[in-house]
Amino acid sequence: MKDKAAAPARHPLSTLARAAAFAAERHQGQQRKDAARSPYISHPLAVVDVLVHEAGVTDVIVLCAALLHDVIEDTPTSPDELHAHFGAEIALVVMEVSDDKTLSTAQRKQLQIEHAPRLSTPARLVKLADKICNLRDMLHAPPMGWSTARRRAYFDWAGQVIDGLRGAHGGLEAIFDAIHARHRELAERD
Ligand code: ZN
Repeated sequence: MKDKAAAPARHPLSTLARAAAFAAERHQGQQRKDAARSPYISHPLAVVDVLVHEAGVTDVIVLCAALLHDVIEDTPTSPDELHAHFGAEIALVVMEVSDDKTLSTAQRKQLQIEHAPRLSTPARLVKLADKICNLRDMLHAPPMGWSTARRRAYFDWAGQVIDGLRGAHGGLEAIFDAIHARHRELAERD
């Protein structure tokens, strides 16, 4: 695998295919927190789907970073390894959207709010699509055992993160806002 991975990509789609395979391999055996215990890879694939089909994003750097956006945070993958397999540009975007797992959850959440205004445009697109997918999951396939209050805190926080990075893609922001408003509507009914 190492020899193959080290070969330079001839076509952008070859990098995309390698990123999908790499993410699937790294997330193998991991599950989402929904009742169906969906395979984890369905999440990065959903993020790419939002970018391509709902936002018209075709930049392979963004799409590869979307496929790989959780491998640093949630799998034993190092930044160097990502860099070696996919180059500096993709690795940097993934690093931008990865939390530092040595920090507490509260610190990580606070830093996401603080870092949002400093993210590059590719990182903003990945972050927007990621939060859209997470809020959708929260509506349609919520994590098991999450109380209404915990879900409410999550979408309040997601709104704060997204407010810090507006201006990158009006279409994605509108999609995010619509789902966010739907959450608020439901929360007010509870
Ligand atoms: Zn994610």
